[in-house]
Amino acid sequence: MDTSLAGRRALVCGASQGIGRAAAMALAAEGAAITGLARSEDDLRGLCAELPRAGAAAHDYLVADLSDPVSAERLVRGHAAGAPIHILVNNAGGPPPGLVTSASAEAFRAAFETLLLSSHALVQAVLPGMREAGWGRIINIISTSVREPIAGLGVSNTIRAATAGWAKTLSKEVGPDGITVNNILPGSTRTRRLETIIAGRAKAADTTMEAVEQVMMQEIPLRRFARPEELGAAVAFLASPAASYITGVSLPVDGGRLASI
Ligand code: NAD
Repeated sequence: MDTSLAGRRALVCGASQGIGRAAAMALAAEGAAITGLARSEDDLRGLCAELPRAGAAAHDYLVADLSDPVSAERLVRGHAAGAPIHILVNNAGGPPPGLVTSASAEAFRAAFETLLLSSHALVQAVLPGMREAGWGRIINIISTSVREPIAGLGVSNTIRAATAGWAKTLSKEVGPDGITVNNILPGSTRTRRLETIIAGRAKAADTTMEAVEQVMMQEIPLRRFARPEELGAAVAFLASPAASYITGVSLPVDGGRLASI
């Protein structure tokens, strides 16, 4: 069975769980061959066994830590030399919560390395293959905080905005090569990341996680958190031929939570 991404290879970062895993599943369902990237080989092996196989797609993985962009780039460049990457999904864990007033310089540096410099390094590693193909999709999983900073996520808010600026600049430089660059801005999505944030808020307010969830859901017009699959579907759409004229945008997938238009 060939589908719309048959013959394309996608490198999906942070593919072992959460939104990254859902993105890998959705892209594979559309026929893409997946290279999953994460730190745990066991998790990646498990992912490869579960990924749908449409047509001739053969899935594989790379064990890498995105907090070390130089090593990650070397690894991906070597891999891409043998199997060019057409779709890159930049995604990694969010920085720990905290007020911006108490954030250390080291916390900013670490987040900048893992979230921005690693994305940049991987783009540089896969660009030659995309340019040769005259086709590419770069999709960055960022956050709604690009538009409206989220209270208590000081470092994240700062680095996310920088990443959005980088991505928009990139979209203008690589558009002439047939490569699109877009961001997905997840709202609250049921993953381990969200659980950690809810647990932190419950502890700070001396209340239950259920009580925190209820308050959070009241701020979402659809009155529920997203399922990771709903984010995966948005990634697959931006990678698909249907999104061929969309570049340089940030797409909120947030149940309508953002207040701004
Ligand atoms: P998650 O923490 O559940 O998963 C993150 C994935 O990245 C995991 O597979 C993890 O192993 C991998 N990862 C983390 N650090 C890594 C590193 N240094 N090297 C390689 N892999 C690494 O997160 P998620 O909920 O799936 O969110 C994905 C992204 O979207 C994060 O940046 C998160 O902050 C952002 N986001 C999530 C939500 C939400 O509600 N879940 C909302 C807004 C933004």
